Amino acid sequence: MSESNTHPKILIVEDEPAIADTIQYALETEGFQIVLHSIGGGVMELLARERIDLIVLDIGLPDINGLELCKEIRKTHTIPVIFLTARAEEIDRVVGLEIGADDYVIKPFSPRELSARVKAVLRRTLTDGGGDDPVPPVFQVNENQRKIYYFGTPLDLSRYEFDILKTFISRPGRVLTRDRLMDMVWKEPEASMDRTVDAHIKNLRGKLKKINPDADPIATHRGVGYSFKETP
Ligand code: CA
Repeated sequence: MSESNTHPKILIVEDEPAIADTIQYALETEGFQIVLHSIGGGVMELLARERIDLIVLDIGLPDINGLELCKEIRKTHTIPVIFLTARAEEIDRVVGLEIGADDYVIKPFSPRELSARVKAVLRRTLTDGGGDDPVPPVFQVNENQRKIYYFGTPLDLSRYEFDILKTFISRPGRVLTRDRLMDMVWKEPEASMDRTVDAHIKNLRGKLKKINPDADPIATHRGVGYSFKETP
C-alpha cells in the first residue's frame, strides 16, 4: 500500500459540474487524488505550483478550446492528457500529432471506461518516481472470468487446472495431499485417481514455466502431496 501523498494526482478541467462530479467520484474510488478546475484560465498557474500526474481535459470549455490549452501546456509540460469530447468530429484533431494527447474519451462515457483509460495512460507514463509499483503481483485471480494471471500474463487453464491453482493460491505454504486436493477440486472425488492430480500438476507446472522459466511456485512433497510457495 502506498502513502496517500504518493497517489497519482489528477487534474480535471471540465465546466459541466455533473460530469466533473461523476469523474471525481470514479477516480477517487480508485485511490487517485483529484483537483477540479472548471475553466481553462488558471490551469497554467496551477500546473506551475502543483505536481499533477495526469490531466483530464474537456475540449468544450467556456473560455478556451481544450485543444488550444493542451498546446499551451505542451510548451512547458509533458504531463499526460486525456481529452473529453462531445463531438466525434473533433477526434481527428485530437489524435493529430501536433496536439500531443495521450488518449481521449467521447461523451457520454462510463466512469469505469474513463478510469480504465486513466490507469492505462499512467501505467505507460509513471514508470519511475511516481510511487505506485507498476510491477503486477505474481498471481492475480479473476473469479468472474475464471482467469489467473501469472506475472501479468493470463494462463490458458483447463477447468481442473484453474481450480487446483486457485486452491493453491488461497493456501500458500500449506501442504495439500492428493486426497485433499481432489476433495476440494473434483466434484466426484471417488471417480478420480491420484495419478490424475499428478497429471494436472504436471501440466500446470509446464504452463507456469512457459511464462517464467526461473520460477517454480509448486513444491512436491514426496508421497504426500503438494504445496504452494509464497515467493516462487
Ligand atoms: Ca464542456
